[in-house]
Amino acid sequence: MSGKQHLLPPDDAGIARAAELLRGGGLVAMPTETVYGLAARADSTQAVAEIYRTKGRPDFNPLIVHVASLDMARQLADYDAVAEDLAARYWPGPLTLVLPLREGAAIAPAVTAGLPTIALRQPAHPLASRLLGELRLPVAAPSANRSGALSPTRPEHVLQSFGEACPPVLDGGACDAGLESTIVAVRPAGGWKLLRPGPVTREELQALLGSEQESRGATTASPLVESPGQLAAHYSPGKPVHLHRREPVRGTFMIGFGDIAGDVNLSPSGDKAEAAARLYECLHLAAASDKEAISVAEIGSEGLGRAINDRLERAAAG
Ligand code: AMP
Ligand code: MG
Repeated sequence: MSGKQHLLPPDDAGIARAAELLRGGGLVAMPTETVYGLAARADSTQAVAEIYRTKGRPDFNPLIVHVASLDMARQLADYDAVAEDLAARYWPGPLTLVLPLREGAAIAPAVTAGLPTIALRQPAHPLASRLLGELRLPVAAPSANRSGALSPTRPEHVLQSFGEACPPVLDGGACDAGLESTIVAVRPAGGWKLLRPGPVTREELQALLGSEQESRGATTASPLVESPGQLAAHYSPGKPVHLHRREPVRGTFMIGFGDIAGDVNLSPSGDKAEAAARLYECLHLAAASDKEAISVAEIGSEGLGRAINDRLERAAAG
């Protein structure tokens, strides 16, 4: 099957087809404002198993559940005042909340990998939100790539990652934010913890909630169980990566930033939002180039730089 046959058009017919496939327990790659997600209905054990199988994802790594509305989310998790504030401020948008799983919630056990919590997000991408609105079911959706590989920010990246086994991709073009959502754990007894840096920065969260309280009301002392998917090596382009360069290591593909030039540049004007949006696209280009290694320009770690450097460090650890 050629790539084109895997694409669903970004119109009413494409959305209706995607909803029908999902309702029937199938997989669909859907665009979100962060990256493309590999979606399946979250209440079906068999559909969720197909996500893990297709990605080759380890089963200790739980999935983010995408909802059409805050009302839908409240049926799946226990919301307290902090969670309500965060959802009011950032939903729909690139913030995932880890909350206590509500008793009796219709969620396949594999979605949460046996944790007493669930990760929830209402995406802002217009196609994702129309699809979820039409489906009226919560959808589990990790990034639409083989486990451990670079995240997809374009339909072509999804097609390349899965090849012949690729499920239909709802074609939303390039993703805006380009980095996976920020993940925040909200404690039952108050307090919060940043589990994954992302488009919503730690500085913004601190301004809204006060400083992070790591110990108050913690459900567990183990960082491994708390953030099971935050593996040191991830987002691998399949070749060595040299970070924080003012100039390229000789013979490598250089990813520039600002006035540090390269074969490609994340943002010639030094804009971190643009750099975040282009990060995976540049890494995909570097991976596909004939150079055997990759150099990446230095990027300051304030604001969005924290999330960008988090992904780059995991790419370099691979
Ligand atoms: P992905 O969707 O592939 O970008 O990854 C989802 C991320 O959400 C992983 O880092 C998971 O570990 C994390 N996650 C999902 N559910 C939970 C949960 N209940 N508690 C903590 N982290 C979670
Ligand atoms: Mg991923």
